[in-house]
Amino acid sequence: MQLVSLLEKMKMEHLGAQLDALCEQASKKDQGYREFLTDALAAEWRGRHLKGVEARLRQARFPWIKTLEQFDVSFQPSLDRKVLRELSGLAFVERAENVVLLGPPGVGKTHLAIALGVKAVEAGHRVLFLTLETLLGRLTRAAGENRLERTLRQLVYPKVLIIDEMGYLPMNRQEASFFFRLLTRRYERASLILTSNKSYGDWGEIFNDQVLASAILDRLLHHATTINIKGESYRLKEKRKAGLLGRSQPGKKEGGGQEELDKLLQAGLSETAEKGTS
Ligand code: ADP
Ligand code: MG
Repeated sequence: MQLVSLLEKMKMEHLGAQLDALCEQASKKDQGYREFLTDALAAEWRGRHLKGVEARLRQARFPWIKTLEQFDVSFQPSLDRKVLRELSGLAFVERAENVVLLGPPGVGKTHLAIALGVKAVEAGHRVLFLTLETLLGRLTRAAGENRLERTLRQLVYPKVLIIDEMGYLPMNRQEASFFFRLLTRRYERASLILTSNKSYGDWGEIFNDQVLASAILDRLLHHATTINIKGESYRLKEKRKAGLLGRSQPGKKEGGGQEELDKLLQAGLSETAEKGTS
């Protein structure tokens, strides 16, 4: 049988595409049989791996791609590097544990959630990114169309489910109970990465129900790593660097708070407009 049709039958498309180059390289380097076979199979494997990563990245529906390498840890001294390093090893995914990123706007919660998601994708895991709003919209629609059960089952499937922006909008009773059901399904089976601008003490407000909130926190935090980022908004730092805000004065407490935001808004820059450029 011809080599090309053999490769086709064996679905070795990447090796097929690189065969001429590999053969040329083999004769140039005077490679032995084993060495050549290793290079040839490695080319096929690399191609398949990359294709898998690309497909999983698409399925993950990240709003943008950010990596851990792009995260400037020195900008957030409150962040424990050791914890971050440990998370990037993805043992939490293997153990179906959760990660909760807490902190004010702009400190990199979504960035880190995406970066961990990208790592998981590269390691071969299925990941799905949703904002809380999208998730609740999907579940509410599903319930209205009598397919809540199926939708919940689909949402248990990804090895890592990222739910971004918990706490910006309070949930109604039905939404909170959907969230609880999803959490119960995934409990000890698959990881959640959550981001929130509210500290745990205020989660009762998110769920509009103190009892449900504690039942949710109980399951969520049983196996979880919490990263509490206390620092300044990275977005505001960028603006400051561009000269749009005053320099920070030594000794003056930096809030990244209302005063800075007011200045930003005066400069005609809304958070939303800024988001588009990030
Ligand atoms: P949050 O979700 O906490 O509101 P984001 O993750 O959306 O914040 O971060 C806002 C922007 O700033 C993003 O473009 C993000 O990539 C960037 N950013 C935040 N913190 C850092 C950091 N420490 N190093 C590099 N980029 C950062
Ligand atoms: Mg965010």
